[in-house]
Amino acid sequence: MKDRIKWVKDNIFDMIVHVTILAIILIALGCIIAGAIEDNKIWNDGRCSCGGKWQYIESDTMVRGSNGNVTTYKSYVYRCDRCGALHEFSTLR
Ligand SMILES: [Zn+2]
Repeated sequence: MKDRIKWVKDNIFDMIVHVTILAIILIALGCIIAGAIEDNKIWNDGRCSCGGKWQYIESDTMVRGSNGNVTTYKSYVYRCDRCGALHEFSTLR
């Protein structure tokens, strides 16, 4: 009986760990997808919300180092030719 309780406890702990990892992965994935959707919304077929056109300005490379890990993020900066709004897109349009 004691073994059974221990088995249940161990497995519940395992399950919680797995569910937590899964939740973190899903949240990270959700953020990436939400970012892409947001980018597409702002891109709006190359049109700014004011009716101007997005013009490519430059690409930006950010280097982030933490714990010895170096990760590079590349973003593409576009500016509206009418209202001057700037937006960084995660992909080249
Ligand atoms: Zn604009």
